Amino acid sequence: MKILGKCLCGSITINCTNEPVKTVNCHCTMCRKVSGAAYSTFAMFLKNHVRVMGNSETHFSSSTLATRSFCSKCGSNTQFNYAGKHEYVYLPVGLFDPAVAIHPQENWYASTKLHWISDCNNLPEYEELPNG
Ligand SMILES: [Zn+2]
Ligand SMILES: [Zn+2]
Repeated sequence: MKILGKCLCGSITINCTNEPVKTVNCHCTMCRKVSGAAYSTFAMFLKNHVRVMGNSETHFSSSTLATRSFCSKCGSNTQFNYAGKHEYVYLPVGLFDPAVAIHPQENWYASTKLHWISDCNNLPEYEELPNG
């Protein structure tokens, strides 16, 4: 099964030839900074099952072991590579259409998880942007 993804502006496209090995929510503080969101959800693929295409990707070493990549045009996170697991690439599930098809199976860095995340299911909901 093919899984296709792209960044917000479409300059970077991703073609995965197999299902992810697993999908995880990462609650570490670096994922929070780089995404701007409460946590990041990554699908972990074998590298040889993934092709990333496009020439607008920029790479940033967030530690001696990790490289985070993003689109230099639109700012979308595009991939995370970890030297400790060099055979895998971690792709943000938001890149895939539809992202909803890929379910997380684990929470990583639960020690730094924001305590209010579990309360969010009880908040008022709007189908789209609310007025005011
Ligand atoms: Zn882009
Ligand atoms: Zn993380």
